[in-house]
Amino acid sequence: MKKSLQILILLLSVSVTGQSTYLHCGKLIDTKTGKVLTEKTIIVSDGRITSVENGYVQPKSEQDEVVDLKMKTAMPGLIDLHVHIESETNPKAYLETYTLNEADKAFKAAHYAIVTLMSGFTTVRDLGGTGVNVALRNAIAAGTVDGPRIFTAEKALATTGGHADPTNGSKRVLMGDPGPKEGVVNGVDDARKAVRQRYKNGADLIKITATGGVLSMAKSGQNPQFTLEEIKAICETAKDYGFHVAAHAHGDEGMQRAIKGGVKTIEHGTLMSDETMELMKQYDVYLVPTITAGKSVSEKAKIPGYYPEVIVPKALDIGPKIQDTFGSAYKKGVGIAFGTDAAVFTHGENGKEFGYMVEAGMPAMETIQSATITNAMLLKMEQELGQIKEGFIADIVAVNEDPTQNISTMENVVFVMKAGKIHKNAIE
Ligand SMILES: [Zn+2]
Repeated sequence: MKKSLQILILLLSVSVTGQSTYLHCGKLIDTKTGKVLTEKTIIVSDGRITSVENGYVQPKSEQDEVVDLKMKTAMPGLIDLHVHIESETNPKAYLETYTLNEADKAFKAAHYAIVTLMSGFTTVRDLGGTGVNVALRNAIAAGTVDGPRIFTAEKALATTGGHADPTNGSKRVLMGDPGPKEGVVNGVDDARKAVRQRYKNGADLIKITATGGVLSMAKSGQNPQFTLEEIKAICETAKDYGFHVAAHAHGDEGMQRAIKGGVKTIEHGTLMSDETMELMKQYDVYLVPTITAGKSVSEKAKIPGYYPEVIVPKALDIGPKIQDTFGSAYKKGVGIAFGTDAAVFTHGENGKEFGYMVEAGMPAMETIQSATITNAMLLKMEQELGQIKEGFIADIVAVNEDPTQNISTMENVVFVMKAGKIHKNAIE
């Protein structure tokens, strides 16, 4: 009995470890060199890339699987550094704070995760929700549900009344006085405590709202909302836990404080001055543009009643400026990290961002490098993600056309493999 069980376990482990997948790629993007290679075979086993060979190599074993991507362009799984996996824009979004339970959010989030994965994003950085994001990350990692690999900020940190104060817009009796536990800080002690609470809650990084935001129930979309001392306290504490800090920022003053305070990425960066662009370079801070979100909010603001009144002028003013600022920052040599703010627009449309970046002056290959090699580095995963290379995790996607010839092909990812498992194969 015992022996037969041992043999069964042995057989199972052989069948798991023995099988390889051979991907025959007509074109393959080398994100390290920025070159499009032709006629390559990627061999995958046990969730990792075991080798990349010239030509179309045939498998040695009958058990092995061949995937024909000869007419496609393959590349590493895409990484979006700015999504909110728990929610999605809709005209009733502002009511949902009061109507949805955590379980309701969780089912929705699981759906958004699948949609995101199917659009070719095998890894995302979630920049704030309620804690459902942590549970979803764990469930995906455990294989309970499908979705992208998630790095999450859990709850974003705000100041009282600031962007991401969870009780903004409530009537007074429901406002209460949220504190560090709820992600609201006032002063350096609160700032440290809020970071430590995120660690306790299972976050992977910290997100702060350095300025006002478009979609919060507040007047200003750009005022600075943290003191420099508070930001420094957050960044120093975050460092103790191996976290980096991402800062939402539209206004220039808040952006400067965030950069000087020690954040790693500026999200949106809408009203960034030339001086701040120089600071970005000096402090090695990356811009996460979120052009798709900017375009989306300015369009939705034109639909009567879609957003509450206080949001509309902010959306019309800030939304359309993001793309131009991105273009200037790129030309000035600011580091660019791909990120969309999916949830502000429909999940799964993340690939639109590539076209908007190209439109603003960034070459197509560089947009793909920002979504792979740069983002892997910012997540400290550069030894495992962002390249198709021996030993790396087998996150591989493919599109119909060569994106350096037609960038809109990135909106239609036809093949998705994550950690060696094929999740989508819509190759005709
Ligand atoms: Zn966001």
